[in-house]
Amino acid sequence: MMSGPFNANGRSRIAGTVTTPPSSASQAQVVDWRPGRSEATLWNIVAIVLVVAGIPLFSLPAIIRSGKAGGSFQISLSDVLVIVILTAVLVVIHEAIHALAMRALGARPTFGAVLVGGVMPALYATAAGHRFTRGQYLTIALAPAVVISVLGFLACFGPWGGYLIVPLAIHLGGCVGDGFATWKVLREPPGTEFEDLRDGIRFHRKVA
Ligand SMILES: [Zn+2]
Repeated sequence: MMSGPFNANGRSRIAGTVTTPPSSASQAQVVDWRPGRSEATLWNIVAIVLVVAGIPLFSLPAIIRSGKAGGSFQISLSDVLVIVILTAVLVVIHEAIHALAMRALGARPTFGAVLVGGVMPALYATAAGHRFTRGQYLTIALAPAVVISVLGFLACFGPWGGYLIVPLAIHLGGCVGDGFATWKVLREPPGTEFEDLRDGIRFHRKVA
């Protein structure tokens, strides 16, 4: 589970289908999904839409607090620095929440960083080899988006809430990969188990 909208590697990869040798009774069909170039393009478009929509959304507390919409504001260079640092902090908290959810569900999460396409740094938390149920995987995928956005929205009511608007909006855009993973997981047949890959998902489908 990586953070950041730009986490597909740009190369199209064909999903490999491998059928494991028959065990005693049940078989599993193993399919890997990794987003390719066209999916990455779609993700980036959706991410931009989410960031743009996030600005008014996370501005609502300030508007409610002051009792007036509109008005003007100024941003200094030091404000930009604070916003960049807060955004980076949210990315770290995002991966920590993925990891906490994995741990709570019995997996052993590991962290890492990758340079996507050799240029774009991204963090990830993953639990190699651990198979999650559908409900578990959805919990892990959606926990950071829900927790950070809800708590962040409430924090926007505070006196320094203005600094959180842009970082929370960027973070929301960065959840696009988790959103598409959720969509993929929901489309799998019942009984499928899910293994997190650093840059995709491995589906263990039940074969009757
Ligand atoms: Zn994530």
